[in-house]
Amino acid sequence: MNKVKVIPAILIILCLAVPSLSQVQKVKDLKFHHMEEYCWMRLAAIVPGITDRIILPIGTVESHGAVAIGADNFIPNNLAELVWDKCNALIAPSINHGFTGQSLSNFPGSITVREEIMEEYIYDVLKHLVRTGFKNILIINGHGGNTEAAKRAMGRVFNETGAHFMIVDWWKMAFNIANEVYGRKATQSGHGDLEEAALVMAYNPALVDKEMYEKLGKDNVGRAGIDAGFSILPAWATTRYPEAGDGYLDFDVKKAREYTQKKADYIADVFLEAVKRWEMMEKWKKNE
Ligand SMILES: [Zn+2]
Repeated sequence: MNKVKVIPAILIILCLAVPSLSQVQKVKDLKFHHMEEYCWMRLAAIVPGITDRIILPIGTVESHGAVAIGADNFIPNNLAELVWDKCNALIAPSINHGFTGQSLSNFPGSITVREEIMEEYIYDVLKHLVRTGFKNILIINGHGGNTEAAKRAMGRVFNETGAHFMIVDWWKMAFNIANEVYGRKATQSGHGDLEEAALVMAYNPALVDKEMYEKLGKDNVGRAGIDAGFSILPAWATTRYPEAGDGYLDFDVKKAREYTQKKADYIADVFLEAVKRWEMMEKWKKNE
């Protein structure tokens, strides 16, 4: 073989070697990023080889002033869509019914699953996600009533399996983002207020009812402040503003999208940091 023929032969060999390298895929290279869209044989080929990370959105259905009653579902589902690629994670079917407090359960459309049932339900879902091969699990929570049940459930599965879990309550993190986008005080948002409405509007602006908000009046749709020292049933409003004069809805969709993207980026960053540290600790434990 002369030199001229040897070079193409080497190139052919190199090209044949490339497919084995390209097998190191990311979730973004796959056909779907929702686990339920695969048949089980394909899922078995993906988990844990291509990814051992899964996002579980959880929410509920409850009244939120002029915002759609599915707000707590639309938000975590949309945030999951905004972070899966960066996190190299699949998305699990979401849990769309949750534990809604008594004070809102009197309003049309509010549905509640008892807290003890929620814990068992989330426990079973997490346990089987781990059985499928997922090791790093991000729960994006859209509803405060779910937090304690979900934390207890993930604590139990952690004890039993050693899998890694993070749950995020979007309203308790990165208060500076509201300040950056809306110029408001960096404080925890209320319920069905500016920030929650922004996260829903980023998904679909039609899901916030501006006409109804204006017809009823922002101070009638909601009430400002924390209820301290007394309890009332039912709640006197289904929107809670953080304090007087603050947290009113802003119908600027561009700002809503900017706020939502920043929130999503923050969630992806904390999860990736956690995965990095979990994996580092696993290696230390194995003395690698
Ligand atoms: Zn909500």
